[in-house]
Amino acid sequence: MDAFAKPTTEIKPYDGPPPPDMFAEIFTADAFAEDDARLWVPLAPDRWSRPLCLSVSQGYWVHLTRVRGGGMLSRHRHPAPVHGFVLKGTWRYLERDWVAGPGSYLYEPPGDIHTLVVDADCEEMITLFHMTGAVIYCDEDGNTTGHTDVFDRVEACRRHFEAVGLGADYVENFLR
Ligand code: FE
Repeated sequence: MDAFAKPTTEIKPYDGPPPPDMFAEIFTADAFAEDDARLWVPLAPDRWSRPLCLSVSQGYWVHLTRVRGGGMLSRHRHPAPVHGFVLKGTWRYLERDWVAGPGSYLYEPPGDIHTLVVDADCEEMITLFHMTGAVIYCDEDGNTTGHTDVFDRVEACRRHFEAVGLGADYVENFLR
């Protein structure tokens, strides 16, 4: 049989057992649906993070960053790669001359230092980021001033979900 074929009724779904050590799937049908605003974890005024996958076993996290009415994400460095895909709005790095918009993909190489700016005329920006390792905040000279990693993200989600009535354990939907 061809590796790729149009769907037909003759193709049967796999119904065998999964590998015994397999983790559970995470499926979010529509992360844009505003039916539960509580899933957006506030990080700062007009800035939120919606967790999609928090991998404590591999040290990465996948989330949607949302900024309304402009804002700035402090200068930072990554020790490991980041992948970004813009879904809505526009943003740029102070250190670059390009502007990212819907459909833009970005690979941030380990070691790069940049400062993300969403200009005030951007009503709403939403970007999917796949972060690995940590975000290391730094000063103008590149000296470390702070950091955040997947465990900090889990803790922030836990506190937020508890505060909005979903319960701290709600974070487990995203933990792998
Ligand atoms: Fe970055």
